[in-house]
Amino acid sequence: MTSGRSKISASMLALAWLSMSGSIYAAERNIDDKAINDINNKADWLAYGHTHDEQRFSLLNDVNADNVTKLGVEWYMDLPNDTGLVSTPLVVDGIMYFTGSMNVIRAVDARTGKLIWEYDPEVYKVLEGQQQVMWKDSRGISTYGDKLFAGTWDGRLIALDRATGKLVWETRTFPLGSGLHINGAPKAFKGKVLIGNGGSEVSPNRAYVTAYDTETGKQAWRFYIVPGNPADGFEDATQEMAAKTWTGEWWKRGGGGNTWHGLTYDEDFKTVYIGTGNGSPWNRKLRSPEGGDNLFLCSIVALDADTGQYKWHYQTSPGETWDYNSNMDIVLADITVDNKPIKALLHAPKNGFFYVINRETGKLVSAEPFADVNWATHIDLKTGRPVEREGARYEDGSELVYPTPWGAHSWHAMSYNPTTGLVYIPTQNLQSVYDDTSVPKDWKLEKYNLGTGVGFSMEKIPNRSWGTLQAWDPIKQKAVWKVDQDFPWGAGTLTTAGNLVFQGEPTGLFKAYDAKTGSLLWKYDAGLGISAPAITYQLDGKQMISLLVGFGGGWASNLTGVADKYGWSYGAQTRRLITFSLDGKVNIPKQPGAVFAQPLIDEGFQVDDVKADAGAAVYGGKTCVLCHGAGAVAAAMAPDLRASLAVLDKDGFKSVVHDGARLRNGMPAFPKLTDDELTALRHYIRREARKAIHTD
Ligand code: CA
Repeated sequence: MTSGRSKISASMLALAWLSMSGSIYAAERNIDDKAINDINNKADWLAYGHTHDEQRFSLLNDVNADNVTKLGVEWYMDLPNDTGLVSTPLVVDGIMYFTGSMNVIRAVDARTGKLIWEYDPEVYKVLEGQQQVMWKDSRGISTYGDKLFAGTWDGRLIALDRATGKLVWETRTFPLGSGLHINGAPKAFKGKVLIGNGGSEVSPNRAYVTAYDTETGKQAWRFYIVPGNPADGFEDATQEMAAKTWTGEWWKRGGGGNTWHGLTYDEDFKTVYIGTGNGSPWNRKLRSPEGGDNLFLCSIVALDADTGQYKWHYQTSPGETWDYNSNMDIVLADITVDNKPIKALLHAPKNGFFYVINRETGKLVSAEPFADVNWATHIDLKTGRPVEREGARYEDGSELVYPTPWGAHSWHAMSYNPTTGLVYIPTQNLQSVYDDTSVPKDWKLEKYNLGTGVGFSMEKIPNRSWGTLQAWDPIKQKAVWKVDQDFPWGAGTLTTAGNLVFQGEPTGLFKAYDAKTGSLLWKYDAGLGISAPAITYQLDGKQMISLLVGFGGGWASNLTGVADKYGWSYGAQTRRLITFSLDGKVNIPKQPGAVFAQPLIDEGFQVDDVKADAGAAVYGGKTCVLCHGAGAVAAAMAPDLRASLAVLDKDGFKSVVHDGARLRNGMPAFPKLTDDELTALRHYIRREARKAIHTD
């Protein structure tokens, strides 16, 4: 099966080649690990985290703490058909490559923002007739040799010719219909490209990561994150060892562990580190009823880069039961602790502890909380294990616990600046009530239904800001400075030798801070929430800073009923790619500001409360809520259904929801919904619309 469409402008391509090489006949550059790891190469941004160490640090200092106030717009590109933009662009020889909504990949001239080619993997065609949920956002792509690599929502890994945007190969990484998705950037290293997947909450599955040959797309190796059914025999001794940490019939519910983010390659040890996901379901009692650590959930696992053979692991949340996955980025840094140089790995997972691990041995060096934490009192450095607080596992009851399933830190990249010695972490200050009392004993996770095996709610921790940007000293294990923020979901950070830290905000502001002190030095109002991290590179002697603007990721769904406060609405504000430079002077057309959906008035629709109640259950259970928001109040990710004409039209509604008429825009099809369920949904949505009209 091949799907995909390339568009290329021949004249643009020729121009780009000329400008980068002086000759149209220049061969496409062959990018290898040495190139990706070269911090002294200031012209490019060759990997998701800049270099293989994932530090998101640049030696460029033309833009610095003294002159950052002179930053202005050098060029911009409107992306009117995109929605959530969360990805890190790459820059190779003056051309920028990035992935947008629905996995569309574009190459643009990094001097001007002019489109060179566009590749649409036509996800909507592949998903036709398929039930599928989440995620049309993508966090990035990778490059190796003369190719680009991207994962797609529907589970393909694709390789494109970097020069032309033409498909070279594609391979399916999981069977269609398995309930999984890809929204992360693949990791390319040593002639291989590694990818995992997400979906622990919407399907029973046994997670794995797979490495493919960059040239041919042939599978090189696969590592299973949780063991399978012992009756089928274990793949190797590692799986047998992992199985000893599980109880009951875990394989029936899959086990989870999905690695949707957090892949790092270590050139020093020829090792890849994978940050693994939470259990499926979250509630360990349902998953592994007699307890157990449940390897390799919520761990960092070190694997041989050539073979995928297990080297070591460190589990951040043994026997996890809170969705405390360890999918967050894994940053490599050489640091000195107690006068000893250590090749360290830095990791700030959802569970709120900042870990420094010796990556040669896998031994824990230190761990301290970087956020409010009450599930464990501390990490015992002798055993390397957390000391849990009594009751934190909410067994047969309900319990207030922090951090939450959204994590003290999520996928928003942290950066490490070797000149300041600090890590810049977007942090969230939330608490959750986990409620085990309403979970039936015969609980089952059904494909495409939201299933966690425990009730949960989330709110701000009292007397704390929603979020914090903090500069963390990984040696002293404490914050050096903090900026309190009136929102969670702050974007990933970029740091430079110019003593700067850049961060975009859900407020629409893009800010630069003094990296040593945290003083705010500069801000720019993009007129739309920012969720992507910025990158920097140098062209013609000029330092450029580029940023995708398009409020995205989980919070943009308004699942928590908070994101709608910003007024970033589906289709209302223009999604953009913006590039800044010193003395940049381009004017960007103004955004409309905050736009709030106006629920439709329709007196003709008689709401039946019994049907509306049934519709509420469908809405919450069948994953409508994951994109269209709590109480049918949407934010940036999807249309607000209270304002939707389609809801008033029985046939139109069916064609969209059941038949997939808007697959192309990212609205999945739900062919298993019955006519009664569709009717119930319409009554629920109309009841919510009426509530809004009658209370305003
Ligand atoms: Ca999860």
